[in-house]
Amino acid sequence: MWAPKRIDITTADLAAGLVGCFTPADHAREALIFEAELSSAKDLLVCTSVRSGFDALLTALRLPAGTEILFTAMTVADMPRIAKYHDLVPVPVDVDIDSMAPRVEALEEVVTSACRVLVLTHLFGGRIDFSTSISWARRRGMVVIEDCAEAYWDPAYLGDPRADVSLFSFGPIKHRTALGGAVVRITRADLLARVRRVIAEHPAQKSSQYAARLLKYGVLHKISARVSYAALLRMTRWFGVDHDRLVNDLTRGFGQNDFVRTIRQRPCLALIRMLRRRVQGTARPMEQREQRGRMLAAELGPSVICPGVASGPHSFWIFPVMSADPVSVLRALREAGFDATVGRSFALVEGHSGNGCRNAARVIEQAIYLPFYPQMPDSELLRMAQVVRQFESTIQSERLQTEVLPVADRTGSTPESQLSGDR
Ligand SMILES: *Cc1c(COP(=O)(O)O)cnc(C)c1O
Repeated sequence: MWAPKRIDITTADLAAGLVGCFTPADHAREALIFEAELSSAKDLLVCTSVRSGFDALLTALRLPAGTEILFTAMTVADMPRIAKYHDLVPVPVDVDIDSMAPRVEALEEVVTSACRVLVLTHLFGGRIDFSTSISWARRRGMVVIEDCAEAYWDPAYLGDPRADVSLFSFGPIKHRTALGGAVVRITRADLLARVRRVIAEHPAQKSSQYAARLLKYGVLHKISARVSYAALLRMTRWFGVDHDRLVNDLTRGFGQNDFVRTIRQRPCLALIRMLRRRVQGTARPMEQREQRGRMLAAELGPSVICPGVASGPHSFWIFPVMSADPVSVLRALREAGFDATVGRSFALVEGHSGNGCRNAARVIEQAIYLPFYPQMPDSELLRMAQVVRQFESTIQSERLQTEVLPVADRTGSTPESQLSGDR
């Protein structure tokens, strides 16, 4: 059985991380050295997580209560939650399913004079071209924040230079993980200095906590790599645990308790060292992932919608496909040995925008996330594509027989027009 996700780290990294937890040295100095190594422009800052960086940024921006903050309508729930904590009002902007970029008409539809910030989220591993949205926001004098948590880190790509802020995550399920940590680029020097001052006042994360995390994920890592994943699944079923939830919860960074206290921490030295190690170490080139992702998309064929596939370059951090019946396709995939998930970590940003964000809502309701990582051979990717394709063509033809034809008989219209009306 192929697990939904593998943690992208080696045992050597974990061991080095643990050693780092017991080495005393100067935090602040090491952070500055690392930041300077990554960018000569002195525009980077390391944080404990993207959420920590985003929270510090909102503190530094000191926006009046009730200010509206536009968000790509689909993201991880914690981001709008942080905005709300700062008394800001998140406003969702609907996306185009093929690119997962905001639609300009949607921006126009929701914007009010109270909007001061735009958060653009690079979903699923693509580096989405946000040119249009950025120019749109610039014309209105908004602060532009780019959430690159899912985009592939590469020293040559520090985010869109036209954005004010770009946030990169090295959290547990992300590419090249350091089991935490984030690199934040802030192009405005005054804003960077303010965010630095906010973070400097936060208590430092305890290295013992980081060590505990390394150990926890070390165990998970071993399980997903060595012990049969199918056995783990059976075990969780015996104990009546919802395994989909288990996988999602285990791979989440923080619990629900004391959320804000947890994110308001400076990174510990061990985390900074691990970030340095992960960022400087060799990694599989993104092109390799992209090429395999494109192959999988091609094999799925034009009738299976893969949200975000049209943006590029794309690392396919995760691989979503839409299905009219996500629960059944998930079951069919599990029977074939592929443990896909419904992606509970994603949420629709709640807000008051008109008739809602139909495309984003559809992706959240209908997308399932296929296992997709380097350890899976091409032959398995092709077999997985076949399962999805066959399943989708079966339900499409079943729908034709059970739903569309009787309606078509009554109205005298063709099945084709019914089908397209259905979409
Ligand atoms: C993972 C993720 C985050 C949070 O990153 P952390 O570093 O864990 O705080 C934020 N936004 C998106 C889109 C993410 O996928």
